[in-house]
Amino acid sequence: MLIDTHAHVNFIAFKDDGDEVIKMALASDVWMINVGSQYDTSRRAVQYAQKYKQGVYASVALHPFHLKGKKITAQADPNEVIEFETQEEKFDYQKYKELACQLKVVAIGETGLDYYHLDKGEEERQKVLQKESFLGHLQLARELEKPLIVHCREAHTDVLAILKDYTAGKENGLEGTIHSFSGRWSQAEQYLAMGFYLSFNGIITFTRDYDKVIKNMPLERLLIETDCPYLAPVPYRGKRNEPLFVKYVAEKIAETRGVNFEEIAEITTNNAKKLFKI
Ligand SMILES: [Zn+2]
Repeated sequence: MLIDTHAHVNFIAFKDDGDEVIKMALASDVWMINVGSQYDTSRRAVQYAQKYKQGVYASVALHPFHLKGKKITAQADPNEVIEFETQEEKFDYQKYKELACQLKVVAIGETGLDYYHLDKGEEERQKVLQKESFLGHLQLARELEKPLIVHCREAHTDVLAILKDYTAGKENGLEGTIHSFSGRWSQAEQYLAMGFYLSFNGIITFTRDYDKVIKNMPLERLLIETDCPYLAPVPYRGKRNEPLFVKYVAEKIAETRGVNFEEIAEITTNNAKKLFKI
């Protein structure tokens, strides 16, 4: 079996067939964690998780994108331009805490910092807002003893500094994963030293940028994900991604490490079960 540790079947792209997509994945022994990006999508992730007896879990948080309402254009590669409009929301600790305490919620995320989409002239103010929200999520993760799912784009220096600062001298250190890891090996080493996991998705099927990290990191800290509906792996580039396609990520990791697919499937599944206590 495989566990897609970062899916968004709770997003609008699956509004007509989310349950079919989930059932197809479960029928192929692919489990998933649906990740919220704002209150509505977090709640929908929880609803999906509670509908299924096993194999579907939820993570809740306010993504840095949604601290400000604006049009987002993200380009993963020349084949895929993602466009969507964000809804402005402020992180309401109590509301998210209530949601996070529900059954099947296994993590706090995705939260973190995204410096790729800052508005011109607003950079510093927006960074401050993002950091405040991120710290609120760290506090929630610590209070509820749940792992974090961290989103980080062009902000590894600050994410590392915040995580180090937050965990320094504390008894209950934070656990979590850096989803869609986009850093260098030297940054990977620092996350690993703090006990964090690193997670990879379809991006690794069309770039070799992360081969060094994938080859060097301990397998015991590696997770796989799709980030569906985005970032479909080869051979589905440009199509809607779904949890079932997480197998292409596992295949690519096996190929890069020079080991069997079965070994990657087993270890990443065990890693996900351990980190998210499922
Ligand atoms: Zn995501």
